[in-house]
Amino acid sequence: MELRNFIANEWVAATATRPVIDPATGTVLATVAESSADDVATAVRAAREAFDSGPWRTTTAQARGRILFEMARVVRQHAAALAELETRNCGKPIVESEFDVQDAATCLEYYGGLATKIHGETFSVPDNAINLTLKEPIGVVGLIVPWNYPLLLAMWKLGPALSAGCTVVLKPAEQTPLTILEFARLVREHVPELPPGVLNVVSGDGPVAGRALVESMEVDKIAFTGGTDTGREVLHGVARSNLKKVSLELGGKSPNIFFADCDLDAATDGALFGVFINQGEVCSAGSRVLVQREIAAEFMARMQEKTARIRLGNPLDRATKMGPVVSQEHMERVLAAIARGRQEARLVAGGGRAESLPQGCFVEPTIFESDNAASIAREEIFGPVVTVIPFGDEDDAIRIANDTPYGLAAAVWSRDIFRCLRVVKAVRAGIVWVNTMQPCYVEAPWGGYKQSGHGREMSLHGQEEFLETKQVHINLSETPLGWY
Ligand code: NDP
Repeated sequence: MELRNFIANEWVAATATRPVIDPATGTVLATVAESSADDVATAVRAAREAFDSGPWRTTTAQARGRILFEMARVVRQHAAALAELETRNCGKPIVESEFDVQDAATCLEYYGGLATKIHGETFSVPDNAINLTLKEPIGVVGLIVPWNYPLLLAMWKLGPALSAGCTVVLKPAEQTPLTILEFARLVREHVPELPPGVLNVVSGDGPVAGRALVESMEVDKIAFTGGTDTGREVLHGVARSNLKKVSLELGGKSPNIFFADCDLDAATDGALFGVFINQGEVCSAGSRVLVQREIAAEFMARMQEKTARIRLGNPLDRATKMGPVVSQEHMERVLAAIARGRQEARLVAGGGRAESLPQGCFVEPTIFESDNAASIAREEIFGPVVTVIPFGDEDDAIRIANDTPYGLAAAVWSRDIFRCLRVVKAVRAGIVWVNTMQPCYVEAPWGGYKQSGHGREMSLHGQEEFLETKQVHINLSETPLGWY
């Protein structure tokens, strides 16, 4: 199967092609476009034309909302096929892909509804005048997404962008373009109301195709999700070009904090779910488990016991709890981090490649114990690796939790609500969960403090990221100013 770029509702061949690999089996799933900077420029021109002179500009908010509802309907109608494709392409267990696809549709519905709720404000200025704001779409937006939630994270950006009235060029991660291209195919077939050029998809390598989008003088904003180092590159590219707007959702090393009075059974489930869901390839993974010293031994024993029961294997099997990581290259990065961990910390579980599954990129769920100074406690690994860090008292827990350049998420577990709320206030992170970890809702904002990003996705905040605010001042006085 050869898949091309989706530009102005047509399939357009790119300069070159590349294979897409199933990480569970190593087989080639499809061939996709490997876009050059010129290929990206073609897509940007289509988006520019659709924004500047196409019908999208005058499409009503109601009509935009209806288009998003139609997209959601199509996703739900083809949910099973999309989930299977997602699992084949990125390796996540099928049950998780099914959740992701439903969440993707929910996201489109939420922003479909929000299209008609965009409004400005009026201000009481000290003059005979009316002063108000208009909310307007930012323009042409480049959406750059990673491989861990390929379809879902694309919809987190596409939903608010289209709802706001922007046009987009979407670049999936090189490893995982398939569900996004399939979404474009379904939209082309089933949502004829979408004008050409509003949604464009270009596949290709980040440093070439992604960079071309970032540095384009015709793009008004980049909405990016990916690693912190890449985020830094994006900011450089934006500074080198037209100072376009940017929102960044970056990495994390999130603390999952357990006090001695927590419910041990629920807590150890939460510790493992917090980090091993999606093979640990989660930006908000609770990859630092902070445990109060008096329960640390018992906590660790229960984590070990439950980890031994995690079923690794064919991600299309509904009983599988952990699939392969996304690619050979990424597996090697994760294994290198584990090898560093073995030098500096105590290995408690796992610790290498799953030898029983040699055909795929399977890494054992791995637990280390160390202090917060070890590299495995500091660097984002983005795989099934967790570091357990014992702590003394509440101040100690807060100090360790905040001792990181990241600030995406955190969780605190205790039966003492006063303590929980003190920790919620003290931790410098964009999302803090209490007695749970990882629930994520389109209605609520998502994003990071510190080096975990700029701006927020989802909720009304996510919509705001795709809007400009225009101040309009209407003079009501017919008397000349009398200045000259
Ligand atoms: P990368 O930063 O490598 O890639 C993210 C996207 O950026 C990909 O589409 C990639 O393309 C593209 N890209 C790479 N280099 C450039 C460049 N120079 N200019 C423009 N675009 C570029 O991240 P990963 O794909 O490895 O994803 C994992 C990272 O994403 C983790 O660090 C994780 O924490 C973060 N993440 C954050 C989330 C959040 O909400 N905060 C959510 C999910 C992930 P290509 O892959 O084709 O090279």
